[in-house]
Amino acid sequence: MNYVFGPVPSRRLGRSLGVDPTARPGGHKACNWNCVYCQLGHTRHLMTGRERFFPPEAVLDELQSALKESQGGVDWITFVGSGEPTLNIDLGAMLRGVKAMTSLPVAVITNGSTLCFPEVREELSVADAVMPTLDAGDERTFLRINRPQHLYSYKRHVDGLTAFRREYKGKLWLETMMIAGQNDDEESLERLAAVLGAIAPDEVHLVLPTRPPVETWVTPTDADGLLRAQAILGRVTKVVHPDAAYGDFSLGADTDPFEAAAKTLARHPMSDEELRRALNLWGAADADTVLQALAKSGRAHEIRRYGKVFWLGSLPETDAKGRETEQ
Ligand code: SF4
Repeated sequence: MNYVFGPVPSRRLGRSLGVDPTARPGGHKACNWNCVYCQLGHTRHLMTGRERFFPPEAVLDELQSALKESQGGVDWITFVGSGEPTLNIDLGAMLRGVKAMTSLPVAVITNGSTLCFPEVREELSVADAVMPTLDAGDERTFLRINRPQHLYSYKRHVDGLTAFRREYKGKLWLETMMIAGQNDDEESLERLAAVLGAIAPDEVHLVLPTRPPVETWVTPTDADGLLRAQAILGRVTKVVHPDAAYGDFSLGADTDPFEAAAKTLARHPMSDEELRRALNLWGAADADTVLQALAKSGRAHEIRRYGKVFWLGSLPETDAKGRETEQ
């Protein structure tokens, strides 16, 4: 499978079958932001507008097979993956195709930057839940955390979210990544609360950079930061606390455990523990052999963050001295 993966356990969406609308050969992410916490590496080329990636029918064909194989073990279909989903100009056709194929609810996880375009808001209107990002209550913090292509200013971002909220009838769940020392102090949270109050989402989901972020200095806020965020943002909207309880990953329908793991890791870094459990569930005879083969082939790499071992589909770029670099 090239575009469909999982089911992946999700804290909010149960067992979610993923659709990657920006899958590209080589696995490079397609995005118009370059967030400091991105788990997919640096954005090598910041996109300015929407593009055609592949014929939308290719996704729908794969999805049909995946749904058949899952035999009812799916709760949501989620558009998410190796970049920003709304940059695919055929997203609307794919969403309509999925809604015609199944009665399962459909979610779109997006950075929200293209909601400034009326056609994107219209396309997303058929989704049951849309989960855009809002990490900052002011332009300076936004530029520091999200590092967007310059056409996608903070004002356009907030205006797009506000317009979408006015028009959209489904669940609007904003996501805020809580980063220590960046957006978790009282002043930053008060500014964010003021913007959230004006947008009026159904919920705000606090999320933490628990998978290896592209910038090694990025760390999750602590328990105090989470309490502060709940207290301040909770005055204007319902706040959902990050819940550490993940279920088990499925490596999808590939017939070879090496391929199944390599393709899943290209989109979704996993802890060593999660990956071993997924390989066992998949039925791989010897997880160690698969992991060694992945490391040797260069299709996955081991990395240690927050005292835990993770597996990634690609390494951060480094300069001549081996330091991680900006693009
Ligand atoms: S976290 Fe999402 S929006 Fe940010 S750079 Fe990565 S893919 Fe793009």
